[in-house]
Amino acid sequence: MTTEMARARRLVAEADRIVVLTGAGISAESGVPTFRGAGGLWKSHRPEELATPEAFARDPQTVWEWYAWRRGLIADCDPNHGHLALARLALGGTPTTIVTQNVDGLHVMAGTDPALVVEVHGTTRRAMCLSCDWRDDIEVVLARVRAGDEDPHCVDCGGLLKSATVSFGQNLFPGDMERIEQAAIACDLVLAVGSSLQVYPVAAMVPLAARHGARVVIVNGEPTAMDDLADVLVMGSISEVLGTVVGWSAGRNVRGDASVD
Ligand code: NAD
Repeated sequence: MTTEMARARRLVAEADRIVVLTGAGISAESGVPTFRGAGGLWKSHRPEELATPEAFARDPQTVWEWYAWRRGLIADCDPNHGHLALARLALGGTPTTIVTQNVDGLHVMAGTDPALVVEVHGTTRRAMCLSCDWRDDIEVVLARVRAGDEDPHCVDCGGLLKSATVSFGQNLFPGDMERIEQAAIACDLVLAVGSSLQVYPVAAMVPLAARHGARVVIVNGEPTAMDDLADVLVMGSISEVLGTVVGWSAGRNVRGDASVD
């Protein structure tokens, strides 16, 4: 164990209330590409061309193709040791909230109680209507697209359908910003994992927590935009280092028993 890992582990063990912020990096080793960093997704697709309400209004067919491609990317992906380590942390005695920028659903698949996870950018596993409360599995809409409906509309109200994700330029889902701000203010440790910490407003929870006295631990493979705020920086592969940081070892299940789930 490196000195930095040992220091991070001590801060986690001593914390009374933890907020974890996860980004695309935690899912990279499950096979889901990141947007930035080595192997980043944005090298082949420009976000402003696809993940915006304007792009959707202009060319829904291309955007549905992008959703179908991203849904396909996660279809066969499983949680890795990073997700399992955080599921274990959230099951432990320290109150923990996991705020994720990820839209892949892997924290819940790893066994984390959904009530403890805030998916601030939504999920690519679901579709939503922009005009009413209609929600369903995104496969329901993708089946319509595959059958030739280039711009599927809501069966209940005729409104525009889209992936249940927050696009660039869209507001977060109602209540989420308040929830993550309250969690940031109340915690005494913020653990940022696999995020370049460049995507706002979510990244702002790190300086917010720090201003309210929280310690900051950053675990990432490359420098982030907020390394100067970190009490401890752990550089490395998340699936290799995060278990040590939170005191969970691979080979144990998320409840901590010696058997693997
Ligand atoms: P990002 O793509 O901007 O940054 C990911 C960071 O993770 C990079 O700094 C990279 O160096 C690091 N990283 C990658 N693999 C790693 C590994 N194995 N170990 C350690 N570090 C590793 O991610 P972001 O800050 O989360 O922001 C991008 C936006 O993209 C988010 O808003 C999110 O909604 C979306 N996104 C989500 C997914 C997903 O759901 N899995 C995937 C791509 C993008």
